[in-house]
Amino acid sequence: MSEDSLLDHALVRLDQAASHLSIDPDVIEKLKYARETTKVRLMIRMDDGSRKSFLAWRCRYDDTRGPTKGGIRFHPASTADEVETLAFWMTFKCAVMNLPYGGGKGAVQVDPRTLSKAELERLSRAYIQAFARIIGPDRDIPAPDVYTNSMIMGWMADEYAQMVGQAEPAVITGKPIALGGSLGRGDATARGGFYLVRHLAENLGLGQTMRVAVQGFGNAGQHIARLLAGDGHKVVAVSDSEGAVYSEAGLHMDMLLDAKAEGRSVASTAGQGGHECMPAADLTGVDCDLLVPAALENMIHVGNAASVKATLVLELANGPVTPEADAILAQNNVIVLPDILANAGGVTVSYFEWVQNRQGYYWTEEEIHDKLRVIMEREGRAVWDVARAKDVTMRTAAYVHALGRLAEAIEAHGTQN
Ligand code: GLU
Repeated sequence: MSEDSLLDHALVRLDQAASHLSIDPDVIEKLKYARETTKVRLMIRMDDGSRKSFLAWRCRYDDTRGPTKGGIRFHPASTADEVETLAFWMTFKCAVMNLPYGGGKGAVQVDPRTLSKAELERLSRAYIQAFARIIGPDRDIPAPDVYTNSMIMGWMADEYAQMVGQAEPAVITGKPIALGGSLGRGDATARGGFYLVRHLAENLGLGQTMRVAVQGFGNAGQHIARLLAGDGHKVVAVSDSEGAVYSEAGLHMDMLLDAKAEGRSVASTAGQGGHECMPAADLTGVDCDLLVPAALENMIHVGNAASVKATLVLELANGPVTPEADAILAQNNVIVLPDILANAGGVTVSYFEWVQNRQGYYWTEEEIHDKLRVIMEREGRAVWDVARAKDVTMRTAAYVHALGRLAEAIEAHGTQN
């Protein structure tokens, strides 16, 4: 692992948390490395008759607390280092929420927007053919992540069922409802973050009407913008990979959501309804109360952290703030609700889906929302209390909270292997 790999950055947070607990060094040694990372080449037939090969990975980072759990990302810039780092974060995320899971992650190095629907289906099925021996309802349970969705999970669940000769819905979460998916999974990541902010609003000194900027307008970004606007807040800026728009009076949600539904960038709404075009790179510096990074890693870094004007950052993306940027934000009294807590609503409803699949009995959307809210508030409050008691950031507190649970499980497994 090179000096400045993404995983090295992530491990800085582990060290910071460990310094606040008396942890057996064996525990840290175990959590510093991925347990297993498998790399394959997937060969698929393209529509023009040619064959094309794609790199793919699945990492099971740590399974001390249960089967490994985590999404599959389709992205042209994915690497083994990124997959292991995302799996490390999943390990801590599941521990923060007290879900009976370890952490895993997968990826295919591909830009899915360049594939036809049939090619995408062949690639998704090839992924399961390659990793069928690694995944399983009690072993490793994939889910959606960046540029994957319920349709892809449906193809993957179907491929697995064909391979093992029976339906096995609990092998993968985020499926279409028709194949055993859960109500409420679609907006769960954003909804969890929304419940968290609402629950801690008084402690965080938030006003009734916040000005909000959202970076990234995929699943998480669209839903958080919709939920916050519906709760009376003003979404003043949003961006996606192709551009950004701004409106002092608040952006029109229906215009933004329509644009995405039609496959257009949010930038295509500029010039209508008071929406103004702005450079996407300026989004993190927009004058607002709440900044929501909902795209990729390392978006707030040493080069732009000082320009953040928000008083609160809600990390719906995984790893959007670098450790160096963390220090700058803390110095400027910007509170960061960290990814492993803030975006854990997604994996929490994935857990509900897995439970429902195993019991064969399905809950209403209202039940899902209630159960999600209870867990977000309980663990959010616990992290808040650790942050107060130890006088540390919410990120360090979340790691301390998770590390305590991981350490207990690692020790309970016995010390002689
Ligand atoms: N990809 C999501 C995450 O990063 C969800 C994972 C899951 O549901 O297993 O948390």
